[in-house]
Amino acid sequence: TDNTANTVRSAVRDLRGSLIRSFDAEISDIDGIIKLTLGEPDFPTPERITQAGIESIKAGHTHYAPNAGTMGLREAVVGYLKRRRQLNYTVDNIVATVGGSEALSSSLGALLSEETQSIIPIPAFGAYKTQTLLAGGTVDLIDTTDTGFKLTPEQLEAAIDRAHQAGKHPILIINYPNNPTGVALTSEEIQALADIVRARDIIVVSDEVYSEIYYGEGRADSIARYVPENTVLIDSASKAFAMTGWRVGYIAAPVELAQEFVKVHQSNVATGATFTMDAAQEGYEHGDSDIEHMVAQYSNRRNFMYNELVDMGLNVAYPDGAFYLFIQIPQWFDGTSLEFCTKLAYEAKVALIPGAAFGDPQSRWVRASYAASMENLRESAARIRTWLEENA
Ligand code: PLP
Repeated sequence: TDNTANTVRSAVRDLRGSLIRSFDAEISDIDGIIKLTLGEPDFPTPERITQAGIESIKAGHTHYAPNAGTMGLREAVVGYLKRRRQLNYTVDNIVATVGGSEALSSSLGALLSEETQSIIPIPAFGAYKTQTLLAGGTVDLIDTTDTGFKLTPEQLEAAIDRAHQAGKHPILIINYPNNPTGVALTSEEIQALADIVRARDIIVVSDEVYSEIYYGEGRADSIARYVPENTVLIDSASKAFAMTGWRVGYIAAPVELAQEFVKVHQSNVATGATFTMDAAQEGYEHGDSDIEHMVAQYSNRRNFMYNELVDMGLNVAYPDGAFYLFIQIPQWFDGTSLEFCTKLAYEAKVALIPGAAFGDPQSRWVRASYAASMENLRESAARIRTWLEENA
C-alpha cells in the first residue's frame, strides 16, 4: 500500500525474506522427504539445563533481570570463557542477549552506520549483510570459494584498502567454524588476520556460535585471544547446549564497547528472559560433559556423511566444525543452486539448502546439515547415491 511505501524505510522494504525459510516451507510438504536443512541441533536440551530452567521459574525468577543480564549468567560466562576458550574477560565485558542473533543486532546496531563498509567473507550467515544494510552501510562480500573457504590476509588487506578508498569505515565480520561450510581457521591463520586487524586498527566482529562444535585438537581458537581490544565476540547457548528455543546468547567486548552495546540492547529488548538465563548459566557452569557427548555424535555423523558424499564422487569442503557439509553441485547439472535443491527434493526426496542463501546468487554449492539421526543420514546418503547414478 501507499502507506507501506511511504512509512517503511527503503532499506527494510528491499530486504528479502530468508531463502532458507521459504525453500524449507516449499519442500516440507513433499511426501516422505528427509530434511537435512535444519540449522539447529536435533538433540534435546540437556536435562540439567532444563531442570535449572524449571527450578528458576518455580523460585519466582520471572521478573526483569538487570539490563546486561543476570550477574549469575555473566559470571558463569566469564568462567566458561577462561576454562574452555583461554579467554580473559570480566563481567563488565559481558552483555547477555536474546540469542546470538540479538548479540549481532545490538553490537552491529551500535557499530554500523552509513559510513561503514562491512567486510564479509562469503558464503556467510545472512544476518551480517542484513544488519549492515539496515544501518545504511555498504557490504564488501569476499568470495572465499577459491581459498578453501577461508579469508586470507591478502583478501583482508585489499578489502580494508577498498573501504578507505571509498571513504568508508571498514569493519570485519567473520564466522569460524563457519555456517554453511563447517570450515574453521587454524591458530596460525587466525593470528595472521589478527596481525592485520591490529596494524590497521579495525574492529572485528567474530561470530563464534559454533566454537564448541569443533573436531580439531583441543578447542577452536578465537581472534579475541590475539586482539581483544579490537574484538567483539558473539556467542550463543543455542548450538553449544542445544538451546535454540531458549534464546540466550552474549557479547564479550572491551568495556567501552560493551557499555555502548548495552544501550542498544536495553532499547531493543530491555533484557533477556530471566529463567532462560538461569538455565544457560547451568550449562556454562556444568555443561562441559553435555557438549562433549553431543560433539562425539556430531563427529560420527560428520565422518559417515563426508565419506559417503566423497565416495559418490562429490566435492565436499572438509568440515572442522559446526554441523554442516558444503557440497559442490556436479558439473553436469545446468541450473541454479535453488533449481538443484528443488530437483533433488522432488526426485530424491532429500532436502538440502541452496548455496545462494549464503551471499552468492551464482553459488554452485549446497549445504547439508547433519544435525539429523544416523538413520536419516544413512537413508539420505542412499537416496542421493541412487539419484546421482540415474542422473549423472
Ligand atoms: N550466527 C550463526 C553463524 C548462525 O548460524 C546462527 C543461527 O543459525 C546464529 C548466529 C544465531 O543463532 P541464535 O540466535 O539462535 O543464537
